[in-house]
Amino acid sequence: MNKEELEKLREQLLEQVEKLPEKQASMLREQIKNASAEQLEAFIKAQQSPDQQGGECFFCQFISGKIETVKIYEDADILAILDIYPSNPGHMIVMPKKHFEFIYEIPDSILNKIFLFVKTLEPIILETTKAQAISIYIAQGAIAGQTIRHFSVNIIPRFENDDISFEWQKKKQNKKEIEKIATKIKKKAEKVVIENFEKEKKKEEKKKKKQEESEAQKMIKHIKKRIP
Ligand SMILES: [Zn+2]
Repeated sequence: MNKEELEKLREQLLEQVEKLPEKQASMLREQIKNASAEQLEAFIKAQQSPDQQGGECFFCQFISGKIETVKIYEDADILAILDIYPSNPGHMIVMPKKHFEFIYEIPDSILNKIFLFVKTLEPIILETTKAQAISIYIAQGAIAGQTIRHFSVNIIPRFENDDISFEWQKKKQNKKEIEKIATKIKKKAEKVVIENFEKEKKKEEKKKKKQEESEAQKMIKHIKKRIP
């Protein structure tokens, strides 16, 4: 693909992204803008896979039983399977049964369950596969390697010289630039934290009010009993 074709493609992708909800759009916009030629090509390939073209998601087909899998655990919220194309023997995939693409979309109770499961299974996988280490891998977005748009956690048993690589080149960035990004993140994060706390506060106030009301009712009942 030449440079001109690539830029045209980048523009088309950016246009498509605008149709998505803002949260997803802003994430993808940045990824597309910064993507290399290879990354863009991989991204398009992922876009064209069946689960991304209105066809049913691959993981959802495991969940519904349309495609057979090797199940390790299943309940109402989560499913854990062994990958049929494992990176190493014992490669486990843990996913929510409901279709979510990104971690921020998943309800806390289900997310807690997923990570509690990962925590519980890690030593068991180490022991049974005799692995020397474990990688816990989550990809968010096609450019990051998320080929199936259904959130999943990969538990990968690791062995010396197993040809799996999560390494990256360390880039140079001056401290001022890093601090600038940190300020931006903190400013936004603070707002989110405050919003969450205020929501919690309101919930607690409501609960307290309800409690007070029920106590008042009890008292009235008690008094009524004593009045002949
Ligand atoms: Zn799905």
